[in-house]
Amino acid sequence: MSKRDWLRKIENEMLDLVYPPGLYCISCGKIIDDSRTYRLCNDCMKSMNWITDRHCGKCGRPLADTDPGNLCFGCSQREAAGRMFSFDKGYACAGYGSCEQAVIFALKYGSRADIGDTLGEILYDRMLAEYEADELDGMYDIVMPVPVHSEKKGIRGFNQADLIGKGFAERAGLHYDPNVLIRRRKTLPMKGLGPEERRENICGAFSIRQRKLSMVEGARILLIDDIFTTGATIDEIAGILKDPWNDDEDRMHNGAARVDFLAFAGGADIIVPA
Ligand SMILES: [Zn+2]
Ligand SMILES: [Zn+2]
Repeated sequence: MSKRDWLRKIENEMLDLVYPPGLYCISCGKIIDDSRTYRLCNDCMKSMNWITDRHCGKCGRPLADTDPGNLCFGCSQREAAGRMFSFDKGYACAGYGSCEQAVIFALKYGSRADIGDTLGEILYDRMLAEYEADELDGMYDIVMPVPVHSEKKGIRGFNQADLIGKGFAERAGLHYDPNVLIRRRKTLPMKGLGPEERRENICGAFSIRQRKLSMVEGARILLIDDIFTTGATIDEIAGILKDPWNDDEDRMHNGAARVDFLAFAGGADIIVPA
């Protein structure tokens, strides 16, 4: 080892003391100090498309200046076509831009499972912007994540929505149950599919676990996911929760009283239902 290498090594060690390893901006990966809110560097904090302004009263997406009412273009088209989403109300923390994408990619593909809890904190603060803490506490009977297929979970080691949901529910003091829904079959990646293809892709992909059916009856449910794009997945799940059909038993169960969802990022309004 040369003297220069040795010096560099000592310098790096000292840097680690000031910045403990693991303290990197969850979006760009830059070293940050541990006082940063949501573990985002200053630049990423500013670049995030935080939804603090007008947003769709149905799906929670940010509204464009050209959207006249309190619904986004997609939701007003759905309303006009009589095909409104089956969930009651959606909330998103940020519009889906490059910073938000980097955070989600780091969590899903970058072995940064720790980001899940930080997103849970962001989701909690997002709800506190709408409701008092004790109001939120009494709003839902069950919080649950959108499930991933067991094979995918096996590769990644976790379901990102589960990590986010746990972090949120813990802070909100709400009952959390990741085992209500089952993903019955694998689906194609939604990316690159049109709205109609997305609906077909997801149809029949989820069901409610047999022993959880009674728990769902009359419950007020909050679904958690990392990102909301066309809404096909959330719509499908909300429909099942509200009107469950159990094929193992020859009778109908009553569904959930209310299904809302909360996502970290809301994607661009790209649905134009026929
Ligand atoms: Zn950053
Ligand atoms: Zn909308």
